Amino acid sequence: MKRSILILGAGYSGSVVANILAREFRKKIAKEELEITILDKNDITINQGGFTFIPFGLYTPEEITIPRKKVISPRVKTFFGKDGEVTFIDLKNKEVMVRSDKKYSYDYLVIAMGCTADINAIPGLADDLNTFYTSIEDAFKVRDLVKNINSGKVVVCVASMPVPCPGAPVKFTFMLESYLRHIKKNRDDVHLTLVWPMEPIGPPEFNKLVTEEFKQKNVEIIRNFPLSIVDTSKKEIASKNGDKINYDLLITVPPHKAPQVLIDSGLADEKGWISADKATLHYRGPAGSYDNVYVLGDLGPADILKTGIGAHYQAIAVSQNLSNDIYGNKIKTLYMGETGCPIVTELESPFTKGKGYIATWKYGMLPSPFTTTNMGWFLYRMYYYIHWDISVKGMF
Ligand SMILES: Cc1cc2nc3c(=O)[nH]c(=O)nc-3n(C[C@H](O)[C@H](O)[C@H](O)COP(=O)(O)OP(=O)(O)OC[C@H]3O[C@@H](n4cnc5c(N)ncnc54)[C@H](O)[C@@H]3O)c2cc1C
Repeated sequence: MKRSILILGAGYSGSVVANILAREFRKKIAKEELEITILDKNDITINQGGFTFIPFGLYTPEEITIPRKKVISPRVKTFFGKDGEVTFIDLKNKEVMVRSDKKYSYDYLVIAMGCTADINAIPGLADDLNTFYTSIEDAFKVRDLVKNINSGKVVVCVASMPVPCPGAPVKFTFMLESYLRHIKKNRDDVHLTLVWPMEPIGPPEFNKLVTEEFKQKNVEIIRNFPLSIVDTSKKEIASKNGDKINYDLLITVPPHKAPQVLIDSGLADEKGWISADKATLHYRGPAGSYDNVYVLGDLGPADILKTGIGAHYQAIAVSQNLSNDIYGNKIKTLYMGETGCPIVTELESPFTKGKGYIATWKYGMLPSPFTTTNMGWFLYRMYYYIHWDISVKGMF
């Protein structure tokens, strides 16, 4: 009996699952006993992690984008564009609809459609939106703004949690500080503030390092400031608690949400995210409980950290469980919460050594004390060049 696996979203985690399964089941696919199909609304994939570096002239669009077909196994059936843009998911009838009105049925479904910025959630934000979070174009716009910072009050504001890679605005702020100090050499003329929606910045040891380094570098941190409004006429932001901060330049990480199509398909929980068992990653939500439906990556439950590192480990667990299901061996591989957050505290330049570290942790095992190093910076920079061939292809 032929079985089918349908993967929604050919971004990071969806591609990893497709590639691991295409390798594992090459014989079954050749014998037409198994079919793996992946859908996406477009045919170019982006390594979003590169957005954080573009404002400082690091990485080019060519380095952080690639046609999806180049990184997805030819054993996988791919549909991109109108035949791949999901418009409705019917878990009960095991059916997925797309923009072209085509329908796909499945035995196993993997939902890996990431998350999106929700600019309109904050009144006024769209009127003064400078963000490196949403697209290459937006990251380039921030690059132009950063180049022209001469003096005044620069505020980097994270509107709310969860967002993908909550460490990205932290390393952006460190790199901005380093850029102004060592490259533009006008750091003393700029008041730099990171505005954070909650008290801790990451797990305790991460928070400790970040707090100490920001203090040393004279970067102000304002915590517990969930953004509620941007008043462009006064150049002022206000929090839900009524606190106010003014700025000359505002760089924002907007609130994020699961793709609207999943909300409209009735799959989202009360927080707007797609609930799943945090270990098996099976769908468990308002549409029911489905062991043949897996949820992974940025659209997952609000309390699973949304990072590429986490999405990668989830993709490995999901691929293993799909293999177990196909083999019928009744083994369950659990996602143990493996995740991580690369941090950068200094840019590499002719005047200073870059410093970074890739902090990792999992459920019940938070990071030990660490420090950023030049080797950490080098490894993190280098990673972007092996991302496509090693990580996306699911080689580890
Ligand atoms: C600025 C920034 C910096 C980051 N830095 C890091 C970092 O340093 N380290 C790290 O580990 N992580 C980082 N991340 C997070 C990382 O990029 C994400 O966690 C990761 O991409 C999540 O993978 P995913 O598969 O869930 O989603 P994605 O990779 O976003 O893939 C989702 C896919 O679904 C598709 N899709 C959406 N809607 C539809 C639809 N209706 N129909 C069909 N397809 C659809 C999209 O086109 C996309 O291809 C960063 C993220 C950002 C934004």
